[in-house]
Amino acid sequence: MHPHLREGHHAVGETFPGAAAEPSGPPYGGMSGEGDNSQSVRSTPIGSAAIMGEMDAIVIGAGIAGVSLAYELSADREVVLLEAESSPATHTTGRSAATWIGSYGPPIVRRFAAESLPLLLDPPFETDGPVATPMSCLWIGINGRDDDVRRLAQDTGSTLVDGAEAERLCPVLRPGAVAVAAWDETAKDLDVMGLHQGYLRAFRARGGTLVTSARVVEAARDGADWVVTTTAGDVFRAPLVVNAAGAWGDIVGAVFGAERLRLEPRRRTIFQSPTRADLTGVPFTAGIDDGFYFKAEGDTVLCSPQDATLQEPGSPRPDELEIARAMEAVNEVTTLGLRSVRTSWAGLRTFAPDGNPVVRWDEKAEGYFWFVGQAGYGIQMAPALARHGAELIRAA
Ligand SMILES: Cc1cc2nc3c(=O)[nH]c(=O)nc-3n(C[C@H](O)[C@H](O)[C@H](O)COP(=O)(O)OP(=O)(O)OC[C@H]3O[C@@H](n4cnc5c(N)ncnc54)[C@H](O)[C@@H]3O)c2cc1C
Repeated sequence: MHPHLREGHHAVGETFPGAAAEPSGPPYGGMSGEGDNSQSVRSTPIGSAAIMGEMDAIVIGAGIAGVSLAYELSADREVVLLEAESSPATHTTGRSAATWIGSYGPPIVRRFAAESLPLLLDPPFETDGPVATPMSCLWIGINGRDDDVRRLAQDTGSTLVDGAEAERLCPVLRPGAVAVAAWDETAKDLDVMGLHQGYLRAFRARGGTLVTSARVVEAARDGADWVVTTTAGDVFRAPLVVNAAGAWGDIVGAVFGAERLRLEPRRRTIFQSPTRADLTGVPFTAGIDDGFYFKAEGDTVLCSPQDATLQEPGSPRPDELEIARAMEAVNEVTTLGLRSVRTSWAGLRTFAPDGNPVVRWDEKAEGYFWFVGQAGYGIQMAPALARHGAELIRAA
């Protein structure tokens, strides 16, 4: 507990992501369709005294964005991390596909992903095991989009291969289904919850405090400080506020009278299907047309229709029609023979209008910093993006 925090009824000690995981849903610890953030949550027993914290910084949102930046800031500042849900990483962070793919996304994203890789391979704090383990990625040309594969190979340094080589690299590809592909051998499988827990533990070891069931609902200026109130009625005070609220970024921004970024939360579905096919050596394989991707996950195939449906912040449900469409598309080019769904979930990937992460001071609200818009790359960019955010904050 931070010395400036009093009466910490729900300042979390050993609460780690995954505590609320359900049997059905993402295997990484997030929740499937639960944890509706639009409802106010209160964990403080009625009648108990409120926390009053005077800090150097308040970070809002304990997904990967919030924990990584809170950790960086806590090197030389007193930081409190406020999370609306009763468990951190309940939303997008607990629902990802858990991959690092350096050839994925726009140039700025690829730059931060590349800078993050050494920190994912060798984190600057203790983790329970490796965070990043080798995986390969094959981008396949389908639906007449072979030129897009060639462009991707050129832009990202991936190796351009012909159909026969693609079939060798991905043994479940149907013979003749693919004419050209790009092979990225540098990709990694990530232990997202391991990374998230590592950040949280290291943050707390530096004196940082996580408070859950603490949705920020009010904010006011008092001199050079922000005075922030949560649904539990607790009040925190600091000259710096960081918005790392993911899909809720604009909602939280409005509380502070900040700019409206016009963030777009877009639903993405994931499902796992059993298969009789031999999954040995099957790489992460993605259609270049964004129609699907799949990877081997134990004895199942983890697959996404790559849907990107605009939706209000909340807990999205998997899209059954998209699942059916993706199964058909995967079965068309592979011998996986997907027929049923063992489990499925969905999360919101939140985009800024230009598709790049927003890491900057607000132009209207003083002492208010944006750390949102991580879209579909927030895990693989996290270490370097958090360092960049902390540098910008320190430079001010
Ligand atoms: C299906 C899917 C697959 C993905 N696959 C990958 C992948 O393979 N690799 C990769 O790098 N990325 C992937 N992503 C993207 C990645 O998961 C996100 O970019 C990342 O998790 C975003 O983290 P975040 O902390 O910004 O958001 P979140 O994890 O959603 O965290 C935001 C937090 O803010 C809290 N909050 C909101 N409002 C308030 C408030 N008022 N007060 C307090 N707290 C509040 C929320 O409760 C939430 O916990 C995937 C995403 C999805 C949906």
